[in-house]
Amino acid sequence: MRLILLGPPGAGKGTQAQRLVAKHGLVQLSTGEMLRAAAEAGTPLGVHAREMMARGELVPDDMVVAIVSARIDEPDARRGFILDGFPRTLAQAEALERLLKDLGQDLDRVIFFDVPEAELLRRLAARRQVERRADDTDEAIKNRLRVYAAQTAPLLDYYRNHSLLVTVPGVGTVEAIGEAVRRALGR
Ligand code: AMP
Repeated sequence: MRLILLGPPGAGKGTQAQRLVAKHGLVQLSTGEMLRAAAEAGTPLGVHAREMMARGELVPDDMVVAIVSARIDEPDARRGFILDGFPRTLAQAEALERLLKDLGQDLDRVIFFDVPEAELLRRLAARRQVERRADDTDEAIKNRLRVYAAQTAPLLDYYRNHSLLVTVPGVGTVEAIGEAVRRALGR
């Protein structure tokens, strides 16, 4: 199974990705996690990405596409993967399409988590207490929501046109949302 989890920051993509990993043995490819690990390790890529991430801006397409293309080709990802936080721009979606075509692979579904903005703000504020991410400041959160609306939301139409999009209401308990995901996958 090859899935994309799509939705604004705070929509629950990471949480649901982890459930799917546990249940189906898929590999979770989170570009945000990979970039944070690179920043932590102080690699040149990580150092370059760190400031953009802290401001809530996107890092350049070629950088994330390079990370994903290397990771997707590793043996453990051959059986299936969940992309969480990628693609975030139309250029990334098109690059992914080419990448998968070269590998002879298809996407199965794109799951969109639909969550009202007031709920996103509440969740991101709560997460700030727990995770202490550099980009969970008020200013960065506002910017991430703006960036999502301008650059990532157009992917909904893109994947609708590819007949891959399923919408899951992302409000309720983790279990109830997980159940809706299960139905969306037809399992
Ligand atoms: P996330 O953990 O998915 O919320 O990502 C945290 C931050 O990493 C984002 O605000 C961006 O700065 C950067 N990032 C993660 N994924 C991408 C992507 N696909 N394209 C560009 N920037 C990304």
